[in-house]
Amino acid sequence: MGEKKKYIIDTSAILSGKLNIWENDYIYPDSVIKEIRSGSLEKILEVADIKTCSPDPEYIKMAGEAALKTGDYHVLSSTDIDVIALAIELNGIIITDDYAIQNVARYCGIEYTEGGISGIKKNIIWKYRCTGCHKIYNEYRKICPVCGHEVKRYSKK
Ligand SMILES: [Zn+2]
Repeated sequence: MGEKKKYIIDTSAILSGKLNIWENDYIYPDSVIKEIRSGSLEKILEVADIKTCSPDPEYIKMAGEAALKTGDYHVLSSTDIDVIALAIELNGIIITDDYAIQNVARYCGIEYTEGGISGIKKNIIWKYRCTGCHKIYNEYRKICPVCGHEVKRYSKK
């Protein structure tokens, strides 16, 4: 249902090295590309068929106001604000390892994911661990059959 989600890439996602930049559904804010151009990834980005985009000033303002409300504004660069603005404008998903961007995204109701393509495609793998003897189970169970303590869910990355 609906159109395919667009992924907005931030600088940290590119620098993580985990991103498959040849993936076609990624959108790069112009300011992110400018930031990267000075670095070692310039050559890679030149050969990749990448889509760049600048957010509308209206959305930059919205992103800035949201960052002020969450208290993240002072740690975010104008590039970071562009990433958030573009995600609002395009109703996209941000790929970022930056906690401040993630925090503002959450506040704005924007989806985000960490660390490139593996982060997007991989589902969280839940495991279950006994709070008593710490035995790990693959399937859900309420009580540990070994020691009788409660079993809790945790995610294995
Ligand atoms: Zn146990």
